Amino acid sequence: MMNAAFAQLGLDWRYVRLPVPPERFAETVRALPGSGYRGANVTIPHKLAAHDLADELGDAARAIGAANTLVFDDGRIVADNTDAIGLVDALEEPVPASALVLGAGGAARAAVWALREAGAQVTVWNRTAQRAETLAAELEVRHVERPEPAELVVNATSVGLERAGESGGHDPGEAAAEALGLAAFPAPAVLVDLVYGAEPTPLSRWAAGRGARVVDGLEVLVHQGARSLERWTGRPAPLEVMRKAAFPFDARRRPV
Ligand code: NAP
Repeated sequence: MMNAAFAQLGLDWRYVRLPVPPERFAETVRALPGSGYRGANVTIPHKLAAHDLADELGDAARAIGAANTLVFDDGRIVADNTDAIGLVDALEEPVPASALVLGAGGAARAAVWALREAGAQVTVWNRTAQRAETLAAELEVRHVERPEPAELVVNATSVGLERAGESGGHDPGEAAAEALGLAAFPAPAVLVDLVYGAEPTPLSRWAAGRGARVVDGLEVLVHQGARSLERWTGRPAPLEVMRKAAFPFDARRRPV
């Protein structure tokens, strides 16, 4: 996706994967600018460490406490979190008035903060209730013991990452909706499934089959990537090119 975007922008840049063990993370990152790197995306398990080693933090990274994007700027490491704004961009419509975020890990944290900043009334639910309570207290939103209906539901858990056959003989979409406490009430108007893969997820299919507008996790990935690329290059991201490179199943990106 990034390399397609660089080519479209006429930039002779490469996006490369660098697996780094946690104990080498800081020294590796500090060596990158001197090796010609302009920036980096950072993923699990390094998002907290990326936040901690930065010389400067963007608002989202500071509020969320984790960073997924580093920009090397004249010897300084600037960290930001584009998972948050990427989610809002991917909605392509004003953020609904009410939002339920499922999960309490890093993705949930970014989603809660982004939706709250965009003006939604945000509720958070998590399988392990204590984690939802802690997250809700830190980000000043409400937490619930059982999922409640909302106009927008964001799945920020890893439910749906399982491979076919792991849903115990159930319909995989029903199994995912049950695991997340969604099966008891009508599907929301909009469902974002942050989980993504080579095909639409079971939960996406479940929600689309019940009339929800579904925003695929890949669409969020494209938008957070676009925001990262804009920070590195200072140029508008070629979204369609990135989307075409990212989506294996449908150029129009609507799961069915
Ligand atoms: P994480 O920190 O490992 O959190 C996982 C969350 O899933 C926890 O809240 C956990 O609940 C919950 N969970 C796991 N299995 C569950 C089950 N069977 N039933 C109910 N809840 C369950 O992961 P993360 O970094 O936040 O990422 C979450 C998902 O978002 C991943 O699939 C990741 O790939 C995706 N993601 C997508 C994007 C994107 O751009 N599309 C960006 C970031 C992340 P407990 O606390 O109870 O264990």
